[in-house]
Amino acid sequence: MSASPFRVVHTVCSHDCPDSCAVLVTVDGSGRAVKVAGDPRHPVTQGFLCGKVAKYLDRVYAPERILFPLRRKAGAAKGPLERGREHESFERVSWDEALDAIADRLKRIAEEFGPESILPYSYAGTIGVLGFGSMDRRFFHRLGASQLDRTICSEAGGEAWKLVYGKKLGTPTEDFRLAKLVLAWGANIHGNNVHLWPMVEQARRNGARLIAIDPYRTRTAALADWHIAIRPGTDAALALGMMRVILDEGLEDREYIDEMTHGFVQLAERVREYTPERVAAWTGMTAGEIEQLAREYATTRPAALRLNYGVQRTEFGGNAVRAIAMLPALTGAWKHRGGGGVLSTSGAFEWDKKAVERPDLAFASPLGRLARVVNMSALGEALAEQGSGVREQGSAEGLGTRDQGLESAIARPDGDPPVHALLVYNSNPGAVAPNQNAVRRGMARADLFTVVHELFFTDTTDYADYILPATTFLEHTDVQGAYGHYFVQLSQQAIEPPGEARSNVWLFSQLAERMGFEQECFRDTPEAIIRQALAIGPDGHSTNAGMEHITFEDLKEEGHIPLGFHREGFQPFTSGRVHTPSGKVEFYSETLSAKGLDPLPDFKPAAESRFGELAKRFPLEFLGRKADNYMNSTFANLDGHRKMEARKSQRVEMHPADAEARGINDGDAVKIWNDRGELTLTALINTSLPAGVVAGQLDWAKLSSGGGNVNALTSERLTDIGAGATFYSTLVEVIKA
Ligand code: SF4
Repeated sequence: MSASPFRVVHTVCSHDCPDSCAVLVTVDGSGRAVKVAGDPRHPVTQGFLCGKVAKYLDRVYAPERILFPLRRKAGAAKGPLERGREHESFERVSWDEALDAIADRLKRIAEEFGPESILPYSYAGTIGVLGFGSMDRRFFHRLGASQLDRTICSEAGGEAWKLVYGKKLGTPTEDFRLAKLVLAWGANIHGNNVHLWPMVEQARRNGARLIAIDPYRTRTAALADWHIAIRPGTDAALALGMMRVILDEGLEDREYIDEMTHGFVQLAERVREYTPERVAAWTGMTAGEIEQLAREYATTRPAALRLNYGVQRTEFGGNAVRAIAMLPALTGAWKHRGGGGVLSTSGAFEWDKKAVERPDLAFASPLGRLARVVNMSALGEALAEQGSGVREQGSAEGLGTRDQGLESAIARPDGDPPVHALLVYNSNPGAVAPNQNAVRRGMARADLFTVVHELFFTDTTDYADYILPATTFLEHTDVQGAYGHYFVQLSQQAIEPPGEARSNVWLFSQLAERMGFEQECFRDTPEAIIRQALAIGPDGHSTNAGMEHITFEDLKEEGHIPLGFHREGFQPFTSGRVHTPSGKVEFYSETLSAKGLDPLPDFKPAAESRFGELAKRFPLEFLGRKADNYMNSTFANLDGHRKMEARKSQRVEMHPADAEARGINDGDAVKIWNDRGELTLTALINTSLPAGVVAGQLDWAKLSSGGGNVNALTSERLTDIGAGATFYSTLVEVIKA
């Protein structure tokens, strides 16, 4: 019998999604991937992939992929380029030419302006440990480049959750099937956490109710038993109002509170302010609905809360997440298997980050210290000519603590040099960063040297001096945790990269060589870095907490292995010490108190909301929504994915009352604007949103009419906790164009 010409390789989807699917890639005898499929052996993936990645080979083998290093042609101006004609502004160069030139330019910039004038810009275009942050971090630390505060997506909520529970842990995805009530709060499970959905369906078959709290009627909200269309940014008020009802009616779990929590008395005092009537005036709900929700949540067991990150992308989103996160502690929902809640499970993966990222290399840089920190959510300000937006870690109100293992708040005697070089990878700030016009003005600066590591021409490559071809997760090796489950996974390289595409690890090790960095760690192979991430001990096993049973060889064999505590079922926050300063679940935060900040959760309306002064000029609250079939801006260039979004693409969704008040009919061209920018879109009139709220979808600016996307409207204002982006605190006006 002849051997099969096909082989199947275990990879992991590295896109920014909680599910981190185990993906089996079938490769034919010629080395070409011919099929991708979800691994049926993985208890969360369960053999299926989402619509975005099921067609992944369209992306891997897309004819538009950038396959060779490119250099901007002399005289070609930076700025938006017509789709399909971008290559006319660039010329192919060899990797050697590109790397030599980039290293040379970085050296000169570092000498002239100081290394902190070089800024990396990356996020979760890949969430594998190596791809997200390994050799790149080593490189920038050794160089003395500015550090990037990676706040754009989840920092406010993550910091807020940790203030309450110490760690980002939560109810296992698999246990949601046991719930009798699923509360999806700002969580479009069916759209972007699709592997939780079968668990929710199973729970519903067993009699569970699904309640969705979301200003927008998402797929999940449309399928729920009860959709509460709360006004944007009023979630904290609702959570505090629910607490008030729970306490008034004696529905709290005193036993859990006494044993596991800190600050109940102070919280009980605080929530007295939040009567159902006051909360109704903010949220748009009725007092009766608030009472009903609180009762149903507190008396149904098990009650599982799925909180997602949309809630925290508002000016006071940190407080919102803190307040919501406290609900399962108030009712003791953690005690019932299938109950509790989850924002993220990422805190369970205790990779040896110091070994992977080597922050100690900063002390070998010309600075001799850790570099300043620039907040990625204020990129437009940071790229302003004078560098006026360069900020220390966090805002005055933010907590500004990032887990790099070393204190990074340091005095900077050298002043605040403007950014002169921008190295972009794993991100597309030209499309996804707030205040797009400010970002584009910055990226268009003639004196800014910009390098972009990418798969396709994007809104960011239009401003690049060099574009370097990047790999997909099929083309490199990585190790990965998840923020929606508890499995460690190895992603093995399935195919050779097409053309001259190269991984992040390769790119930064090559740049390090050309910069003359002599440390041995710049020559580490991907396998060596994976072993470091796992902190493999002398007996071959990981020494990381929760990974002690894992060897590299087993991971290679199995593909995915559950964390130790998850093998026997895991119910977090039910006993023992919690990783907060008090060792308890904190209703009252000692950390905030020590900083002179309000230690209790509170509700304040955002400046850009219907309750603020600015609403007199811009009365509509705007949601720049993510498309279900894209991953932020990823996939938005692929025709198949675009077709799936055709109905909502380039539309502004409006409630009939708002449309009528403005004389707008369905299908009319409308102008939507505020002081930061304007867009021309087509009106789509429906009741997906409450009156007073409008929505448009995130798309590539270059694929949008007028050449801008929804981030032309969003601001660089930062969240109350974590100094994150406030995409959903945006006011606009809409008129017929
Ligand atoms: S995007 Fe999410 S659901 Fe889709 S394949 Fe990747 S991890 Fe799975």
